[in-house]
Amino acid sequence: MLLERARFEIVRFGNKLLDKGLVTGTGGNLSIRSGDLVAVSPSAVEYGEMSPENIVVTDMSGAVVEGELRPSSETPLHLAVYRSRPDVLSVVHTHSPYACVMACLGWEIPVFHYLVALAGRKVPVAPYALFGTEEHASCAVRAMGGGNAVLLSNHGLLAVGRTLPEAFRVAETVEFVSMVYSLARNLGEPRLLSDDEIDAVSGAFGRYDSVNRT
Ligand code: 13P
Ligand code: ZN
Repeated sequence: MLLERARFEIVRFGNKLLDKGLVTGTGGNLSIRSGDLVAVSPSAVEYGEMSPENIVVTDMSGAVVEGELRPSSETPLHLAVYRSRPDVLSVVHTHSPYACVMACLGWEIPVFHYLVALAGRKVPVAPYALFGTEEHASCAVRAMGGGNAVLLSNHGLLAVGRTLPEAFRVAETVEFVSMVYSLARNLGEPRLLSDDEIDAVSGAFGRYDSVNRT
């Protein structure tokens, strides 16, 4: 079985997406890149029913190399990210509720809370396009630029990382800051961090991540 470890990781993190309320039903999808191959979750399969054998392996053009099921309908989105961002080795797409609220309002998220900096200097919003299309993929890639997350208008969230745990952490964090932002904006105008404050946070993330990890 090709990319066996990646397949197990996709199943495990798919269940985590469900457990944490970041997806409902068969919404959302995950992938891991390894060289010129990509392991991606199958389309329209419940996370609780997904097994490593169900994960589909494609090449960088989207052709299925191994797998019985249809790959995620968002495979063009995942591949477009990998093609334009060699630093990214994992992609997570969610329909998490508060990120969807922001995406439906078309509100980008500024750095009003230090954790937004995990995604970049803001979480931008990509223009609306039909899910699963090349247009949807290129809108998302263009809007995300060099950041780690982008809100997909009237749809959901895309988060990326060097590993699946990293991409998952970005997705979970963007959901948290989306919730706090919507609550804060209900009560007033949150103070935004300055560029210097954001730079200091980015440096501190590096030190934080190296604690207790060798
Ligand atoms: P798939 O089940 O095809 O991965 O699609 C879910 C989704 O979120 C589409 O945007
Ligand atoms: Zn979706």
